[in-house]
Amino acid sequence: MRVATAPAEVRASSSGVSGLVPTMGYLHEGHVSLLDEARNTCEMVVMSLFVNPLQFDRDDDLDRYPRDFDRDAELAEAAGVDVLFVPPPEVMYPRPPLTRVTVPEVTEEMEGAHRPGHFDGVAIVVAKLLAALQPDRSFFGRKDHQQLVMVRRIAEDLSFPGEVIGCPIVRDPDGLALSSRNIFVVDRPRALSISRGLEAAAAAVEDGVTSSSILCETVAHELDLDRVDYVTLADQSSARPIDTLDQPAFLAVAGHVGDVRLIDNLPIDRVGEMLVPDRGLRLETPSRLANQ
Ligand code: AMP
Repeated sequence: MRVATAPAEVRASSSGVSGLVPTMGYLHEGHVSLLDEARNTCEMVVMSLFVNPLQFDRDDDLDRYPRDFDRDAELAEAAGVDVLFVPPPEVMYPRPPLTRVTVPEVTEEMEGAHRPGHFDGVAIVVAKLLAALQPDRSFFGRKDHQQLVMVRRIAEDLSFPGEVIGCPIVRDPDGLALSSRNIFVVDRPRALSISRGLEAAAAAVEDGVTSSSILCETVAHELDLDRVDYVTLADQSSARPIDTLDQPAFLAVAGHVGDVRLIDNLPIDRVGEMLVPDRGLRLETPSRLANQ
């Protein structure tokens, strides 16, 4: 595995179909599943590792975001990464960018409403990575479903030729979606109320429930959080709330347990004539990486 700090070094080592997995590091099995998907479908796998200051709406969140380069490099190499792209901030942002990448409509609700500026920060870093590295495919987790919707829209609107691929949510055996922030979760039983709520909603979808308010209430009924930011059923292509489940959608939740903010969602996909919940992938044994 090569470590590159400048985009030109990545492009110089490019051969065959290239796949990019953008991350902020502190890897867990969720990131590894994206790397596996890239490894299985691309000849060259590039993983970027950059804690993007522009996407943090709170300084304390940026300061305490976990970082461990040696650990990430070892995991990336074991997952078959060919090039680990670790740009220093002055390479990503030689000057504060004047150009804005703003994707209205898809970023108005849910995370966009609760984290001012967050999506603009994600949008510019993703646009810069796609422009600088020119991957044939880029891989994003459905864990951040609204982000995935936004990235698809950026690629389409700005004519980035590569394909954007959404990958399933990886969960611990008890249901908690893996996140680099899970190490800060003290009261896990309460955090689990999120995935329990989504599971109840998945069962309701399978029973034929299509009312957004009933599905959201089904989730809310299970939640045992200190604060709930939102429970929303949104359309997969616009990330706009919908009243009736009659198209591919995702049922998204965000809330706080202690001082940790968690997000999760249940994607609901069209399979033939049916709309079918995607429960993601459950690890068989507790995550070794997300819980330490
Ligand atoms: P992050 O390092 O948190 O910015 O995440 C990098 C990528 O990994 C994003 O595309 C996330 O959606 C994805 N990701 C994070 N957690 C999970 C998970 N539990 N399952 C699947 N993908 C994930």
